[in-house]
Amino acid sequence: MANLAILGGARVVPENQPLYVRPWPPRDEATAEKLKELYMSGQWSFNSPMEQEFENEFAKYHGTKYAIFMANGTTTLECSLAALGVGPGDEVIVPALTWMATALSAFYVGANPVIVDIDPKTLCMDPAAMEAAITPKTKAIIPVHVYGSTADLEKILAIADKHGIPVVEDCAHMQGGFWNGRGVGSWGKVGSFSFQQSKTMASGEGGICITSDPELAEKIYLLKHIGYSRGVKQGQARRAPEGLICHNYRATAFQALILLEQLKGLHDLIETYGKHARLLTDLTKDIPGLRIQEPGRLANPQGYYSFHFIFDGEQYDGIDVKTINAACTAEGLGIPNGTHGPVYHHPLFNLKPGQFRFGTGNNCPVCEKIFPRTLGVAHQVLTDENTMIKLAEILHKVTSNLDELRQYQAAQPK
Ligand SMILES: *Cc1c(COP(=O)(O)O)cnc(C)c1O
Repeated sequence: MANLAILGGARVVPENQPLYVRPWPPRDEATAEKLKELYMSGQWSFNSPMEQEFENEFAKYHGTKYAIFMANGTTTLECSLAALGVGPGDEVIVPALTWMATALSAFYVGANPVIVDIDPKTLCMDPAAMEAAITPKTKAIIPVHVYGSTADLEKILAIADKHGIPVVEDCAHMQGGFWNGRGVGSWGKVGSFSFQQSKTMASGEGGICITSDPELAEKIYLLKHIGYSRGVKQGQARRAPEGLICHNYRATAFQALILLEQLKGLHDLIETYGKHARLLTDLTKDIPGLRIQEPGRLANPQGYYSFHFIFDGEQYDGIDVKTINAACTAEGLGIPNGTHGPVYHHPLFNLKPGQFRFGTGNNCPVCEKIFPRTLGVAHQVLTDENTMIKLAEILHKVTSNLDELRQYQAAQPK
């Protein structure tokens, strides 16, 4: 008689008592009412009062003077690089473990991405690999605060400053996270955030750049707003600075309103995620060969886009993480594999080898080795204590039945 539910054993979580996972994106009647009022007001876009209010509050929370709200977290990266003057022939250093947009943003401004390896514990950009990749062509560095960790900003900024290279923080996963007492995104020259629907703050689509540099703030604003300065009315455009190719990357007031409501609860939400992440870490720490992605060294609170497990002990040799996920799903809660895998393996990463460079060598061995051993749950799973307890139970059960897991895997069609 098998133990694992995937082989016919009893489930940890009864089918009629599913675990609580916060519905995402969050919705409530009060916000719906406000959206209706906004709709009737007709102030939908073009630097509307609602957009300005959201920009001010988001900047204040994260500790910068300015914020520029825009269409998504891809345009924010592109505009950050463009505002910094990055262009053809330049190089931009990015980590191997990230979403496409981080690497492609370099390409959007005509520069080449340089991909460097990750730290095996935090899964964020390895500062030493980053330093080794610097050349006279390096014009920007984009660390990513990935999943449930914060890149080592102290080390990265010290190296970047020594070489006089600006840092753009990709905070798409890290709304509300703090590093050493101040918001993420406020440490680099620019912080870039996404509000795409899976993120910790979500408005369907959306993004924001934060900075305390007035010149960068103005340039990013011109870039997203077809060359209009803040406060300039439609039809009164002046000539944008020479060479600054401006876009329409605006978002709308509807998104700003939804995000402003979410921002009110953000601090508490991040604290809750953190509390449950620590509980889950504690409840799984005696599982042999299993590690948890380490939070940022000086992150407090650490934000979470997802909570990641790393199955790289030799116990798991020959066991695909997809098999582990399938077994956990059968017990009552899945732990899907992330999709950010070494960025250069992604099907959308269709650059010719001459158009990007590895920081050192031909690939990023740490990311190559670790990424296929990771599984993670999305942040909305981290909202309920009982869900943590049951998830830990599921993991204990699955990882103490590795012979059955192997047996199941061997029986799967190739
Ligand atoms: C989501 C994401 C982006 C891009 O954001 P979009 O709003 O989807 O364009 C950039 N970087 C990282 C790390 C992301 O996860």
